[in-house]
Amino acid sequence: MLKNIEKLKKMAFAKGDENYRFMNYLKGINPSKLDSLFVELSEKYLTEDFCLSCANCCRSLDPRFSKGEIRSLVNELEISMSEFMNKYVDLEKSDGYILKTNSCPFLHENKCQIYTNRPHPCRSYPHLDKKIMAHRLIEVIDNSSVCPVVYQVLEDLKEEFNWKDENET
Ligand code: SF4
Ligand code: SF4
Repeated sequence: MLKNIEKLKKMAFAKGDENYRFMNYLKGINPSKLDSLFVELSEKYLTEDFCLSCANCCRSLDPRFSKGEIRSLVNELEISMSEFMNKYVDLEKSDGYILKTNSCPFLHENKCQIYTNRPHPCRSYPHLDKKIMAHRLIEVIDNSSVCPVVYQVLEDLKEEFNWKDENET
């Protein structure tokens, strides 16, 4: 599996159109079968060891924190809510609080320093185990340039279905 993130970005970009055509193909697959394949393949690749060697999602995405998650976190960090807000939070959106930097301040040497209190989007990433993945394929394609596991799962699915890109030039 690709570990070089710059290479991953380039390859995912190069496969952009192909992946969108593949997405249309996947929409015709039985949704339960597709969900099972996503789970099976992500379990195969999404190992603790691999994530510890990567941590690219923690450097690239901006997970939303709910108020409740921040409350738990300030207890763990032994700081006040206002200190936390001033130090870490950029703005509040309808789906939660966004931190000031895309690269998460709680990542240290590829390890999450608030692992037990990490917010829900971090627990769920890269979101390959959701129901009716057929409705989330654009998100999957977007994540293929961030997460090597997502990229590899898409490539494996092409093999699983023996899918060839007929529009390939
Ligand atoms: S980007 Fe993917 S492989 Fe890398 S740490 Fe995040 S979930 Fe794991
Ligand atoms: S809270 Fe932890 S898991 Fe979430 S982005 Fe930050 S370092 Fe990564």
